[in-house]
Amino acid sequence: MKKIEGLRCVECAAEFGLAETKYICPRCRGNLSVVYDYKALRKRISRKSLKADPERTLWRYLDILPLDGRAGVPPVHAGWTPLYHALKLGSAIGLKNLYLKDDGRNPSASFKDRASAVVAARAFETGEKTVAGASTGNAAASLACMMAQRETKPVIFVPRTAPSAKLAQLLVFGAVVLSVDGTYDEAFDLCRQACDEYGWYNRNTGYNPFTREGKKTCAFELCEQLNWKVPDFVFVSVGDGNIISGLWKGFTDFHALGLIDKLPKMVAVQAEGSAAIARAWKNGGAIRPVSGKTVADSISVSLPRDGAAAVKALKESGGFAVLVSDREILAAIPAVARGANVFAEPAGAAAYAGLAKCAAAGKVRANDSAVVVVTGSGLKDVSSAMKVAGRPHEVGTGMDSVRRLVKREKIS
Ligand SMILES: *Cc1c(COP(=O)(O)O)cnc(C)c1O
Ligand SMILES: [Zn+2]
Repeated sequence: MKKIEGLRCVECAAEFGLAETKYICPRCRGNLSVVYDYKALRKRISRKSLKADPERTLWRYLDILPLDGRAGVPPVHAGWTPLYHALKLGSAIGLKNLYLKDDGRNPSASFKDRASAVVAARAFETGEKTVAGASTGNAAASLACMMAQRETKPVIFVPRTAPSAKLAQLLVFGAVVLSVDGTYDEAFDLCRQACDEYGWYNRNTGYNPFTREGKKTCAFELCEQLNWKVPDFVFVSVGDGNIISGLWKGFTDFHALGLIDKLPKMVAVQAEGSAAIARAWKNGGAIRPVSGKTVADSISVSLPRDGAAAVKALKESGGFAVLVSDREILAAIPAVARGANVFAEPAGAAAYAGLAKCAAAGKVRANDSAVVVVTGSGLKDVSSAMKVAGRPHEVGTGMDSVRRLVKREKIS
């Protein structure tokens, strides 16, 4: 069955066949979005067919992904991550219906596994050999994880400042790692040049139209896990804007398939020092580069690579952008851990920090339902967590010092 109609430019709306371009719009260099034959797919996918499917990974959505089959699917459990009704965390900010989607539970411990799984499978199907990618860390770690058993190793460009846990993942999975003496943005451009020169397949976020396709599967899961009650708000932290535009693509795909009749408002949470998308949304103009400085390395982006699609998601959904400070981001790490049992990396906790701000300002109200997507595990960046986690109590080897401590700390 031919399920893909083609690629549509997010900026100029021009349409192309899959064979006409590999990455971006040949006309305006905008990013491309995959258009499906929704009419044909409606006959294959229903709430009933999904319910009957025992598959508990993102491959339960294979029919609505840009793949012909399972031949290139990496042998790990990507997607279908837990969704928690976070009662305690919600009550702390006056919300009854707060849900936490724990995407740190993916194979390489971040949301990026959804995109890398699809791109790796597609590279296999289309006979690509070397796959390359630039990343602040997670996208690369996920690509390395997905391709660990492949003979041809992925080539990864990361900024030298990437947290060491992410670097360790890259090396352990056997990727060829180029540690770039520059920013993520510079690594991104260098990767593109290398792909041009050597004919490597480029996974770069936004630039490759299939990353968004993988990321949309999180929205599919949310619809199913909430028993088809689409939430009022989805809060997600934003750097390049590919996750938020992917989530929006997922909701609109399901809407086009007649599976849901309501759409959520998408909320982009950005760090104050890395807020190019929030600015473009507010000022209504083009995306302009910013300094891109924040403690949340995964959303530290100067020039967002999927900014236009992200702003579009905010506008079309009636959502908005909210800014959080590094202090608020760090404070959200123990808040989420103690209120909902989930250890998030700074960028993952940022989404909750944004929701807390909006709840305090009355933009999200007690009975509204809100999903916070925790995009990465706290183990990715323990040094940031240790800034706010507190310190252990130092004791000697005898009970006397334990007793002194128990007394002092009033532990019962
Ligand atoms: C990549 C990433 C983000 C942001 O996604 P964008 O597509 O760059 O907006 C947020 N959190 C984590 C943990 C990430 O790895
Ligand atoms: Zn275009």
